[in-house]
Amino acid sequence: MSTAGKVIKCKAAVLWETSKPFSIEEVEVAPPKAHEVRIKMVAAGICRSDDHAVNGTMYVPFPVILGHEAAGIVESIGEGVTTVKPGDKVIPLFTPQCGKCRVCKHPEGNFCLKSKLSQNQGSLQDGTTRFTCRGKPVNHFLGISTFSQYTVVDEMSVAKIDAASPLEKVCLIGCGFTTGYGSAVNIAKVTRGSTCAVFGLGGVGLSVIIGCKAAGASRIIAVDINKDKFAKAKEAGATECINPQDYKKPIQEVIAEMTDGGVDFSFEVIGRLDTMMAALLCCHEACGTSVVVGVPPYSQNLSMNPILLLLGRTWKGGVFGGYKSKDSVPKLVADFMAKKFSLDTLITNVLPFEKINEGFDLLRAGKSIRTILTF
Ligand code: NAD
Ligand code: ZN
Repeated sequence: MSTAGKVIKCKAAVLWETSKPFSIEEVEVAPPKAHEVRIKMVAAGICRSDDHAVNGTMYVPFPVILGHEAAGIVESIGEGVTTVKPGDKVIPLFTPQCGKCRVCKHPEGNFCLKSKLSQNQGSLQDGTTRFTCRGKPVNHFLGISTFSQYTVVDEMSVAKIDAASPLEKVCLIGCGFTTGYGSAVNIAKVTRGSTCAVFGLGGVGLSVIIGCKAAGASRIIAVDINKDKFAKAKEAGATECINPQDYKKPIQEVIAEMTDGGVDFSFEVIGRLDTMMAALLCCHEACGTSVVVGVPPYSQNLSMNPILLLLGRTWKGGVFGGYKSKDSVPKLVADFMAKKFSLDTLITNVLPFEKINEGFDLLRAGKSIRTILTF
């Protein structure tokens, strides 16, 4: 019996308030309205950004269904949807691509102006939610809320992908892999023979390393306070691994000494103000570029002396690796299918969706890179 046009009752991980465990609840998922798509989830990764939302580092309105790195199958579509149909394999996009705004029309910008609503208001583009639980509306997260057996997204927040793709792997193209890889190849534009430093060796940081290596960097210095991350970093392409806690000097000085005055490209992939400054300082003062990838704590500032930029450094950042989401995700999946890169290094754990709290505990304990939840 078709579920199209009907409310679906299913399980979702609801977060009722900040810093609490997820609660697996029965939720009602309303049918998609015009220009919306309802998706049956198949696999979802756990990213540190979800944890930032749990603990308040990233602002979200509660109650909320988190999750933003996933893959699934279209269950039904609303009126006017043309780019996907029921049965299609898809990846939801936490940065939409409306295709019409100033940023979408810009050759390089990717933070579509339609992102703002889904990020701050916890709704779909029409300003309302499709989830209810125990009679109360539940907020969406980044317009996609993937920790649910079914979700509804705007058409601009979903991309159709190759029907043969393994969803339990390509779900990482929905955030971690793409963000890291693109930060190296699109945002920093890492050059052949260059020297790079990557701060933070989680799923996103390892993907930065994969991108630096693909771009032909000759030295990739991996930095983390958890030395258990070093083996994977080397597997991804790091040439050296260092732990700031092993040195008396600030890590930026250690790296500057190792690299004749500083690296060509540095990346902060943790989400801390002190490491953002260390990453900036460890790139060469006259010809280095530093990229902010980690999400900084909500509403905090960093003060810096502009002389750090005056001599020629470049300081930049970006979301989703600078990729225009709806155009690029199907191409990245095609590249994965053509074996241009592997995602296996990033996947350390696979758990049934109901064990989501266990997955977050692994991340917080530094024992996982990516945990994939299967539905
Ligand atoms: P993760 O938690 O898996 O990895 C972070 C790593 O940083 C860990 O290995 C940890 O040991 C290390 N670390 C922590 N404190 C450190 C310190 N003081 N010095 C050195 N290393 C330290 O996280 P992730 O999922 O890889 O995400 C990394 C960051 O990227 C997060 O802030 C996340 O929110 C952000 N993110 C940004 C985007 C984007 O579009 N810009 C997308 C996804 C994730
Ligand atoms: Zn993410």
